[in-house]
Amino acid sequence: MLPPDYHMHTPLCRHAVGEPTEYAARAVELGMTEIGFSDHSPMQRDDFDDWRMALRDLDTYVAGVRMAQDRFSKLQIRLALEVDYLPGHEAWIQDLAGRYDWDYFIGSVHYIDDWALDSPYELDRWAAQDVASVWARYFDLLAKAASSRLFQIIAHPDLCKKFGHRPSGDCSPMYRSFLQEAFSTGVAVELNTAGLRKPCNEIYPSRSFLEIASQLHVPITFGSDAHAPNEVAMNFAEAVREALAAGYTRYAAFKQRKMEFRPLKAE
Ligand code: ZN
Ligand code: FE
Ligand code: FE
Ligand code: ZN
Repeated sequence: MLPPDYHMHTPLCRHAVGEPTEYAARAVELGMTEIGFSDHSPMQRDDFDDWRMALRDLDTYVAGVRMAQDRFSKLQIRLALEVDYLPGHEAWIQDLAGRYDWDYFIGSVHYIDDWALDSPYELDRWAAQDVASVWARYFDLLAKAASSRLFQIIAHPDLCKKFGHRPSGDCSPMYRSFLQEAFSTGVAVELNTAGLRKPCNEIYPSRSFLEIASQLHVPITFGSDAHAPNEVAMNFAEAVREALAAGYTRYAAFKQRKMEFRPLKAE
């Protein structure tokens, strides 16, 4: 049995295709019993960027997920958001949290200051940066996201490797300081298979990251980061093998922000 896919998008973010019912139909086809929608959350101002839902679309988003829940009554479908963590946005994230009965929030660091470091449109900005300093700032923001206690799960925890920029030194001290924060605040990290579809050609996070996470008993979830129905649970068998190889025996599931553990089994 595949673990739940907790990271799926919808067309409201303006760069995904397929209605929630189509993602759900694909999950049923794969024999899954649980999924969760976590589309890019709105910002307070719609002109923040152009790759998330508009604030006025939040109700439409929730209605779309509810419709899929009604249509696929045997499939557990969680209602969630992928929320950008930026220092100073905490009050806005709290505001969003109060608007619906969310099952979980996935916290993501896509931005370092005004730079979306994973955006292909801002790829040229890497050239002006020292890779090791970008990574250090990225993991520092990730630790702040964990300590904010606004999120149940931290997304794609080494997204800074997306285009293949990797520092030459040992990254484990950076991983460890974030993971200690995640453990002490009870936040899970996500195995995100979208990395296999990107230039880094590797699941987020790397094996070495995951081994430290496992030693520190940080809970895990699984996400495909599907932006199309055919991407639901893509490469999950490989992600499960990675987790088992790193020493994990269970994964975390969320309902109404409460975590529960389930045994992890090889496919
Ligand atoms: Zn996206
Ligand atoms: Fe993301
Ligand atoms: Fe995503
Ligand atoms: Zn994502």
